[in-house]
Amino acid sequence: MSDLRPSTGEFALIDWIRRREPERPIDSWTRVGIGDDCAILGVGEGTGAGCDLLITTDMLMDGRHFRLEQDGPEAVGYKAMAVNLSDIAAMAGSPRAAVVAVALPRHSAVEIARGLHAGLRAMADRFAVDLVGGDTNAWDGPLVITVGVLGHATVRGAVLRSGARPGDTILVTGPLGGSLSSGRHLRPEPRIAEALAIHRMAPIHAMIDLSDGLSSDLGHILAESGGLGAILDAEAIPVHPDAHEQGRRDGSSALDHALNDGEDFELCLTVAPEDAERLLTEPPAPAVLYRIGEVTETPGLFLRSSDGGSTPVEPKGFDHLRAGSE
Ligand code: ADP
Ligand code: MG
Repeated sequence: MSDLRPSTGEFALIDWIRRREPERPIDSWTRVGIGDDCAILGVGEGTGAGCDLLITTDMLMDGRHFRLEQDGPEAVGYKAMAVNLSDIAAMAGSPRAAVVAVALPRHSAVEIARGLHAGLRAMADRFAVDLVGGDTNAWDGPLVITVGVLGHATVRGAVLRSGARPGDTILVTGPLGGSLSSGRHLRPEPRIAEALAIHRMAPIHAMIDLSDGLSSDLGHILAESGGLGAILDAEAIPVHPDAHEQGRRDGSSALDHALNDGEDFELCLTVAPEDAERLLTEPPAPAVLYRIGEVTETPGLFLRSSDGGSTPVEPKGFDHLRAGSE
């Protein structure tokens, strides 16, 4: 894509930005830039004491990612920290420090800030993350909060989206769907310990956290891995009770919710088939693992039913530029 149309979607826009990054000088610290769950900087490269620093940031806005009036500021702070930690988990990394920038509604700025801090701290405490800075603003607009987290990769190395191979088994760490309608999206569980335990037992080839929906997020793994495809087994996809509940209410299938809803913050990963066997036979605590399909050389995402027939799956996950206002 050479130019941007007003109808461009979120991911095409990010791709446009990515392609406009100038070529990096030979001494650049950037090992992985735009396009993965975190960027990776080779800090101190050449000093003999280097490490792979992971950096990620995510913004939450009132009316889109939460409703301040009904959820309260503590829940917002908790979610804001958790979704960032989830991106560190997606690289099989360990989080260390966070910065927090807020645009507070002026009418009750201090009260909201106190609640946010309680929630941020509660999540950060669970993973020994230091709050090391930020920025505080107030205005007449709605609450916006941006968290940035720094972490590091383990000796096994960070796991990228781009390492999937044909024949890999695709796994997820928990049941999917219905998280937005049930309110579960406010209490994401960053799968940090799970990712580290899995990566210790078997090398993870590729991984992403499910923030936009399985159909979109698995698509990112396949695209970044050189244009691969995947076949998912419809009966094997773990469907969350919230997805069944939501399906009953809106008449669509629970499986559609599991494939497309987003904000589950489970991990989707690919491993060699023989490693998948070991992982599924004896999942390393605290990880819970479900086998959902396999990576194929032929591009495209397909859903295989129990009778053997397969149908194409369109990525219908969340796109901020395409989504209507709420
Ligand atoms: P995630 O859902 O894991 O947070 P996103 O879908 O938000 O990832 O972003 C995909 C990639 O694009 C990430 O590497 C992110 O850092 C990058 N990205 C998103 N928005 C921008 C932007 N405005 N400028 C530069 N990079 C961006
Ligand atoms: Mg992510």
